[in-house]
Amino acid sequence: MAKIAKTTKTTKVVVVGAGYAGTLAANRIAKKVRSAEITVVNPRPDFVERVRLHQQVAGTGAAATPLASMLRAGITARVGTVDKIGDGSVTLEDGTGLDFDYAFLAVGSTVRPMPGTVPVGTWEGAELARAALAALPAGSTVTVVGGGATGIETAAEVAEARPDLRVRIVGPSVADIFSHRAHRHVRSGLERLGVDIVDDTLTDASDGTVRLRSGAAYACDLTLWAIVSGVPDLAARSGLRVDADGRALVDAYLRSIDDERIFVVGDCAAVPGARFACAIASPQAAHAADTLARLTEGRAPEPYALRYLARAVTLGRKKAVAQFTRPDDTLRPASLTGRTATVLKELASRGGRYAARTGSGS
Ligand SMILES: Cc1cc2nc3c(=O)[nH]c(=O)nc-3n(C[C@H](O)[C@H](O)[C@H](O)COP(=O)(O)OP(=O)(O)OC[C@H]3O[C@@H](n4cnc5c(N)ncnc54)[C@H](O)[C@@H]3O)c2cc1C
Repeated sequence: MAKIAKTTKTTKVVVVGAGYAGTLAANRIAKKVRSAEITVVNPRPDFVERVRLHQQVAGTGAAATPLASMLRAGITARVGTVDKIGDGSVTLEDGTGLDFDYAFLAVGSTVRPMPGTVPVGTWEGAELARAALAALPAGSTVTVVGGGATGIETAAEVAEARPDLRVRIVGPSVADIFSHRAHRHVRSGLERLGVDIVDDTLTDASDGTVRLRSGAAYACDLTLWAIVSGVPDLAARSGLRVDADGRALVDAYLRSIDDERIFVVGDCAAVPGARFACAIASPQAAHAADTLARLTEGRAPEPYALRYLARAVTLGRKKAVAQFTRPDDTLRPASLTGRTATVLKELASRGGRYAARTGSGS
């Protein structure tokens, strides 16, 4: 790989997306690359803590913080949506452009809700869901679609905050992301909060009735789509090669295989074995920012290594279940419940935000 000669010239860096990965990358580059002139482009003037969107929906927590308070002095925040990236510049939807020496593509992941459902995995969806939930009278029925972490956390949060509602969670095999013991704890925790667990697949929700593959059907007042899938099509639209999920293909240093000037980090990066997780997005951003620092200092970059530690879910504000994993994300038998798990999960959520704001972590 060609080393870049030491230089005092300005290094123009454009960061696309101010979630966990983009915000962390911008702040870390600002600390480590003296020559950097950094612009962050994000559709909203807020940093959204996606890991708290279920709280935003249930009214038990706020997920948005002004972006200005998350970025180091000297970083320019630009409110806008990037329409195209490549050839050393980004083009925004308003037609304006920004040139870069390096770009960080950090646009995260998205949702593909079924008609008749409201998604909780994006800020816009969560705001609609929050308003719809708040308007429901006592005795109404809420169905949460998705038996993974987002569905479990959403169902539990809503059930705890609104005990006057009937809450169901629907998924082919609810909580099967956990091993036997943790799986049991999650399901009994949901049941203690009064959540009905329905191991089935939603086939239709377009007319106020939830229909399932088994043939069962329920009248439902609000159906929340709690599945995160796919990524924004910016990379594909810009001609960068992507995988089947639309994630940009990257080299060992987290750079697009089509353009070495574009680092791709977080949910939108096609790193083999990576799932959508703040716990993965943040270390990737830190590694890519460090790689940029090394390159600008004329040092050789080091390859990124994906490592997992645990997976955890909250069950309302007072309970959580954490399951330890091996570095390759296979499950270890050990799991935690009770106060320890609850404190650890909250610390992890705060840690993601802290790392983004300070550009810290590894
Ligand atoms: C309810 C919920 C709970 C979760 N809990 C956990 C958890 O406990 N642990 C965990 O590890 N993960 C969790 N996750 C997943 C985690 O939130 C994501 O993996 C994480 O947000 C990914 O970070 P990111 O920076 O890649 O993307 P994001 O945080 O999604 O940020 C992407 C940013 O890019 C912006 N953007 C998109 N398109 C454009 C564009 N064209 N131009 C400019 N900006 C753009 C977006 O608006 C956004 O601000 C949870 C997710 C949800 C929904």
